[in-house]
Amino acid sequence: MQNKYVMEILKEYERLSEEAKSAQLQRQKEIYHKIPRIKEIDNEISRIGYDIASSIFKGIDVESYIKERRRKITDLKMEKAELLTSFRYPVDYMEVKYICEKCKDTGYVKNEKCSCFKQKLIDKFYQQSNLRDVLKKENFDMFDISLYSSEKYKDELVSPRKNMEEILISCINFSQNFNAISDNLFFYGNSGLGKTFLSNCIAKELLDKGKVVIYQTSSNLIQILRESRFDENISRERIEEINTCDLLIIDDLGTEPNTPYSQSELFNIINTRILQGKKMLISTNFSLEDLMTIYPERITSRILGHFTMFKFYGDDIRIKNSINKRKPRI
Ligand SMILES: [Zn+2]
Repeated sequence: MQNKYVMEILKEYERLSEEAKSAQLQRQKEIYHKIPRIKEIDNEISRIGYDIASSIFKGIDVESYIKERRRKITDLKMEKAELLTSFRYPVDYMEVKYICEKCKDTGYVKNEKCSCFKQKLIDKFYQQSNLRDVLKKENFDMFDISLYSSEKYKDELVSPRKNMEEILISCINFSQNFNAISDNLFFYGNSGLGKTFLSNCIAKELLDKGKVVIYQTSSNLIQILRESRFDENISRERIEEINTCDLLIIDDLGTEPNTPYSQSELFNIINTRILQGKKMLISTNFSLEDLMTIYPERITSRILGHFTMFKFYGDDIRIKNSINKRKPRI
């Protein structure tokens, strides 16, 4: 199973880098046609490059020769950049544009799998390939704080809007300072108040930074683990990824079947990640009191002890309508 996915992804990389190179050739052709001087410059640069390479064998004052030749290359590159700009092209117009600059769409950096490769594998493993499409529409800029009332709500000390402002700041802080922060996040409260939306915003920010993110509802996660038990080849890999990805998002905690099996799987995931200092974001529609009665103490104590708790509250109708209009739920 793993091999099949790896093969598919490697093929995809091959296609991506071919596309990137042929698009670059196309742009080069266009420029050579419009600005013939640039073709001369490129030829000259490669000739000088060859000169430098062969100068070592010539027995001349190599150092000053190379220095002088390098200066010439810099001059030529300057001239090329100025020409491109004067024709209103971006300076890097003739360079190859890769989707992932880290691995140049090869999937590997120094023989190690690039984070984009790991993410592609995870997307295939967990069928979360639709995640990116959903995330295109969901980011912190889209979060509309005005949907939350600024009136006092029940017994809460601050208004829903003030509460959300604080949650939003913490979420932005979490994703922007991801490497420095050791906290995990726990969102709880009624549905329709933006928990999934904010989880998506965080996932998007981190994916954009090249972090590896697994995003699953808790019922899917338990299902995946259950299936993995029947296939030894994929089980180790899958469980390894759940344990080691940069951020594990467990959405809708409590929707999984409430059995000793799923509770022990949940405990193992949460505990292993805590021990390894790997971050998590968990959300649930349950209240804290409900959680205490549903889950055994060993799970709730891990959550209370290692997560920053954020309570979502307010009148959900306007918020729900607005959020549902914008997106399908993952
Ligand atoms: Zn990459």
